[in-house]
Amino acid sequence: MRKPEFDGYDLIIVGASFAGLVAARTAAHRGLKVGVLDAKKEPGARVRTTGILVKEAADEIDIPAALTRRIPGARLYAPNGRHLDLFAPGYYFLATDTAGTMRFLAREAARAGAHLLFGTRFTGGALVDDEIRLEGTGLKTRYLLGADGARSRVAEAFGLGRNTEFLLGVETEYEETPTVDPDFIHCYLDTRLAPGYLGWVVPGVNMTQVGVAVSRGLFGEERKPDYAAFLRRVDPTFALWNCAELAKRSGPIPCGGLVSPLSTRRVLLTGDAAGLVSPLTAGGIRLAFQYGRRAAQAICDYLQAGGPDPGAAMAEEYPTFGSKALLRRLWSAAPPNALLNLALFTPPMQALAQWIYFRKRGFAGAEASLRAQSLVPRRGTA
Ligand SMILES: Cc1cc2nc3c(=O)[nH]c(=O)nc-3n(C[C@H](O)[C@H](O)[C@H](O)COP(=O)(O)OP(=O)(O)OC[C@H]3O[C@@H](n4cnc5c(N)ncnc54)[C@H](O)[C@@H]3O)c2cc1C
Repeated sequence: MRKPEFDGYDLIIVGASFAGLVAARTAAHRGLKVGVLDAKKEPGARVRTTGILVKEAADEIDIPAALTRRIPGARLYAPNGRHLDLFAPGYYFLATDTAGTMRFLAREAARAGAHLLFGTRFTGGALVDDEIRLEGTGLKTRYLLGADGARSRVAEAFGLGRNTEFLLGVETEYEETPTVDPDFIHCYLDTRLAPGYLGWVVPGVNMTQVGVAVSRGLFGEERKPDYAAFLRRVDPTFALWNCAELAKRSGPIPCGGLVSPLSTRRVLLTGDAAGLVSPLTAGGIRLAFQYGRRAAQAICDYLQAGGPDPGAAMAEEYPTFGSKALLRRLWSAAPPNALLNLALFTPPMQALAQWIYFRKRGFAGAEASLRAQSLVPRRGTA
């Protein structure tokens, strides 16, 4: 990666991941001197995510097809093993080669002119004479964007809001196996194995991803994902014992909604650092793309054209997750498996599942897709 040619930046972004790299590309294209810091040694190192893109994320940022695998549907398994298949016309998810995608986004940001400073950890900073000075680095900037993830050090250093509610996810990557139907993200609802979230088996890009995440209980009780128990549940179907393990990962996923405050003078948060993760689906990449880019645009308008304060502008634009936050609380209560077995195959639950997985298509879309694809849900056993 290039060394900085100067220490004075218009914009320093902490975090070279989905939000930070897209923000860097945008701001550099618009003419700002941009530096991006990341504690990692190189882009794509230590991937912490499954990396599934919903279609809206794929539409927001074009990722080379060679780095993705298109998955048209979601298969939801009830605790008793019966399943429900969901599709929507024209909709798909993209599994990604996440490390490759990070390298692609980093190259794009660098090509736009951003300086990528990998192996540089942000430890603290202070506002001095309208500039943010970064502790221990000699770097200074007119504006600082914190895109440094769920446990943001930028938020901590500047007294901003911090995520307090998390899902905990663990995942193992295996070599690719033909036992996993590639037309589906396989999602397991099971209150005993995955209270407050779900387990998944994903036909990834040249590999298979298997993971499980859990939330805290409704009254804050600690829960930990039990990967071994989940593997025992899915192994009879997918025979993963035949597959070599390629990688393991784990991480917290913010699920408490937007943090507050989001900004202070010349400092703004975005991506996971701002709590921009759907509390229900735990998807954060689409929001990181969309609002990382918007935050960069607002900072450019502020610095280049006397536009409104970026913090105030983004407070108006960042989503607040109203109904999804409510559903998150209900799901964290972990309804009993017997209830899930009964409820999953009722029309209201099918419509809800369709809304959760296919977003704007909503309930009406669910009906349309059922008609269009004869998707009176196909039922079966795992
Ligand atoms: C197990 C798991 C599975 C997930 N699966 C999906 C999924 O399939 N689809 C989806 O949409 N979302 C998923 N998510 C959520 C998604 O990964 C996040 O929402 C997304 O990565 C947020 O991007 P970001 O750029 O805001 O932050 P991050 O991707 O967390 O990146 C933050 C960056 O900041 C750097 N950094 C942190 N602290 C410092 C510091 N002090 N100094 C310098 N650099 C620092 C880190 O090295 C990192 O590169 C998953 C999360 C987990 C944990």
